[in-house]
Amino acid sequence: MPEIREKVDVCVIGAGHAGCEAALACARMGLETVIFTVSVDSIALMPCNPNIGGSSKGHLVRELDALGGEMGKNIDKTFIQSKMLNVSKGPAVHSLRAQADKAEYTRSMRMVLENQEHLTIKQAEVTELLYEELSEKEELATKKITGVKTYTGAIYEAKAVILCTGTYLKARCLCGEAITYTGPNGLQAANYLTDSLIKMGIEIQRFKTGTPARMDKRSIDFSKMEEQLGDEKVIPFSFSTNPEDVQIEQISCWLTYTNEKTHDIIRGNLDRSPIYAGVIEGTGPRYCPSIEDKVVKFSDKERHQVFIEPEGRYTNEMYVGGMSSSLPEDVQLAMYRTVPGLENCKIVRNAYAIEYDCIIPGQLYPTLQFKDVIGLYSAGQFNGSSGYEEAAVQGLMAGMNAGLFIQDKEQIVLDRSQAYIGVLIDDLVTKENFEPYRMMTSRAEYRLLLRQDNADLRLRKIGYEAGLITKEQYDYVCQKEKLIEEEILRLEQTKVGANKQIQEFLERNGSTSLKTAASLAELICRPELTYEMLEEIDPERKPLSADVIEQININVKYDGYIKRQLKQVEQYKKLEKKMIPADIDYDAIGSLRLEARQKLKKFRPVSVGQASRISGVSPADVSVILVYLEHYRQNREK
Ligand SMILES: Cc1cc2nc3c(=O)[nH]c(=O)nc-3n(C[C@H](O)[C@H](O)[C@H](O)COP(=O)(O)OP(=O)(O)OC[C@H]3O[C@@H](n4cnc5c(N)ncnc54)[C@H](O)[C@@H]3O)c2cc1C
Repeated sequence: MPEIREKVDVCVIGAGHAGCEAALACARMGLETVIFTVSVDSIALMPCNPNIGGSSKGHLVRELDALGGEMGKNIDKTFIQSKMLNVSKGPAVHSLRAQADKAEYTRSMRMVLENQEHLTIKQAEVTELLYEELSEKEELATKKITGVKTYTGAIYEAKAVILCTGTYLKARCLCGEAITYTGPNGLQAANYLTDSLIKMGIEIQRFKTGTPARMDKRSIDFSKMEEQLGDEKVIPFSFSTNPEDVQIEQISCWLTYTNEKTHDIIRGNLDRSPIYAGVIEGTGPRYCPSIEDKVVKFSDKERHQVFIEPEGRYTNEMYVGGMSSSLPEDVQLAMYRTVPGLENCKIVRNAYAIEYDCIIPGQLYPTLQFKDVIGLYSAGQFNGSSGYEEAAVQGLMAGMNAGLFIQDKEQIVLDRSQAYIGVLIDDLVTKENFEPYRMMTSRAEYRLLLRQDNADLRLRKIGYEAGLITKEQYDYVCQKEKLIEEEILRLEQTKVGANKQIQEFLERNGSTSLKTAASLAELICRPELTYEMLEEIDPERKPLSADVIEQININVKYDGYIKRQLKQVEQYKKLEKKMIPADIDYDAIGSLRLEARQKLKKFRPVSVGQASRISGVSPADVSVILVYLEHYRQNREK
């Protein structure tokens, strides 16, 4: 039989949250792209929590949308409840979170992929990567990717390959003593690709994560729980979504708690927990602990929150958030039935833990290309992260960069002052992560600048230059930026006097009266006043859209803090711009400490800034490198 041999530009292995974004980015850049999955019915599957966004994850989705990604649009079309979190705190931590109708989310994303020009979907397990050894090292690379082979022996020749295999490589699922060698939700695991990666010299590690049981809604007594409602006025994730289109009838979530009875059952059966019995090899996420971990590690806590969340509009399945577990089924039933409202619960799907192979991401450049293999990229859970949003943004960046690599254009690295995406990828490829990496606002040192509300102002230009944002979208944000700047300038230059009308206005709004004239901007800085409120004493203003007004309020009120953070960014950028040549010989730098030398040789950072963030590289080592690079530059100039 003639062998199947196809020629394409890009092969994307995986149609999860990372793979979908990577494939769409490449196809939208005009590249012939094939996306592989073990099951077409599991495209953009949400195997765990039924929500998109939340603290810092909402920022990632907004940034992805600003760059031209799909997740934000897809959740705006398929959500069943939406809430802006942390509104009592500052704008830096305001975060959107939406409950998804899981089946609709998958169906809708599949439709986008199926109708995307230049994109082919293929249900096939990729079992091997194809590559050639380079006769001479190119930068750090010794190999060049040439394509993939599937379980049928079919060959797809490609200029770039993007690995987005998630939780499927050599996956095994554990529910007490019951172990199944499958991917999530009983889907087929991918058992061959790991060996091919190891043969190429790629370092693999084993991680694990877990999910709670799903319950039949009819068996739950909601009268014993606190109803959690969505926001009255829903704010969309995507900058392209018309806010009127998301004002829909929402479905509630419910809050209940574990109690001492729950904790006793768990403590009494830890010997049957694969985690505590040492059966599980993989390392789990500290910030998504199982209920067993919570009871053991926070034994002083009398109760833990449990969120009962609908999995969709047309299903009775309810997700038991906060109680993921890998305890045996009988223990699960007993523990869940101690929770108020779940006394008669019926389990539709058992809780379980899943172990899977992934890489040590220090093998990647910040472009998400492998240092040792030209044209090979990776994204998502496979890179050691955890979460739909973390996966999706890596997928977009890997797709964008694979596309730019093929187009022989400069690849894109977002730095820590530009985006949460930059923080995420830098942390992954620069720091040693011994557990699945989950994004948090505390990880972003410049978070006052990286708000979810200004993601378009920060990133639209980059998406436009990569070919993923339309001219119309780009022009809109340029105009928006101009309107914001002009209006803030006008507010700073428009003074109001301490006259009767102003004093009455201030008194009516509980604000201190003026002694002398003040600018409108100075008034907006007062916590009790906003740009909207000043309309009655500011007749000259032109009508502006809500998104422009939002920026005016934030930029005027936080002007001082923003300016201070911009100063810090200037310092940070100085070291980021100091690039380190790929062929630097760290053994030649005598005064480097041993630990630093070993770490630098292992990570091969691209800049002094990245070097300074590697654990084990001290500020003194950074000074040594700076001096050495100066000599290196002078010698090259001679
Ligand atoms: C049980 C479970 C619990 C989880 N719990 C949490 C949690 O508590 N918190 C959290 O943040 N995240 C959790 N997650 C993780 C979350 O699901 C992932 O972060 C997210 O799905 C990762 O997206 P991804 O695109 O990287 O991979 P995935 O969504 O896993 O998609 C991988 C894709 O690759 C395909 N694939 C794999 N290998 C091959 C191959 N060789 N050939 C062809 N196709 C292949 C698969 O078919 C699939 O389409 C959990 C996941 C699971 C399974």
